[in-house]
Amino acid sequence: MSDLLKTYFSALPALWVADTARYLVAAALMAAVLAVFWRAGLAARKLQARHATARDIRREILASLRSSLVFSLVAAAIFVAAQQGWIKIYWGFKQAGPLYLVLTLVLMLVAHDTWFYWTHRAMHHPRLFAVFHRVHHLSRTPTQWAAYSFSVPEAIVQAAFVPLFLVLVPMHEIAILLFLIIQIGRNVMGHCGVEIHPTAFGPGRWLAWNTTTTHHDLHHEAGRYNYGLYFRWWDKMMGTEHPDYRRKFEAIVAPRTAVVPLAPQRGASR
Ligand SMILES: [Zn+2]
Ligand SMILES: [Zn+2]
Repeated sequence: MSDLLKTYFSALPALWVADTARYLVAAALMAAVLAVFWRAGLAARKLQARHATARDIRREILASLRSSLVFSLVAAAIFVAAQQGWIKIYWGFKQAGPLYLVLTLVLMLVAHDTWFYWTHRAMHHPRLFAVFHRVHHLSRTPTQWAAYSFSVPEAIVQAAFVPLFLVLVPMHEIAILLFLIIQIGRNVMGHCGVEIHPTAFGPGRWLAWNTTTTHHDLHHEAGRYNYGLYFRWWDKMMGTEHPDYRRKFEAIVAPRTAVVPLAPQRGASR
């Protein structure tokens, strides 16, 4: 037993640094993109008239850092489980080829989207909302820093997906890494408050099966509808997509000559 704990605590610091850095780098990159391209067109794509305050952003960062710690506590447990052979994380292509890597990555994303949709909907139940999900919805006008802005119970629910999936499906290390990058990438894009997806992601277009920033921003603004993470499938099947999604996306990506020279997420005006 003490050997397991030793392995756990020897892996924890590096995993904590990696999980924290993953969040900070992704959110900071998103902030940089918004700042650089603000005047070049992104100002006109800001989704809400309201601006997140400095206090909102501070709360989002602190809660996200706490969630990163929770994720690394779970990641260290995954490390121990892999070392013990309880789950299988492999390296190289001796046991399975690149096709397996790609297919399991796709499967992991689809499974995660399903996990997210249903746990998210459950956390909106009045009996669960306060404990699990209220912290995330304190961000009515979210920013990229809200990507992991969860209460501890919600962070545990979010973290539980990866070990549960790994119990069922052996994964290549690269596939897990790609999953983590896609997950935080889509997450900061969904929360950044500015529609950064091209028109091709709009309803009726060829990438319409993906969610967009408008999609998740409407969830924060309305407090309901649009529970999905990467894909629109579950929302469409379950009738939970925001009735205004199509109109709002098309309006925000429509070409125009708006000049709104306020810096992104700056200014305390509500
Ligand atoms: Zn929600
Ligand atoms: Zn959100």
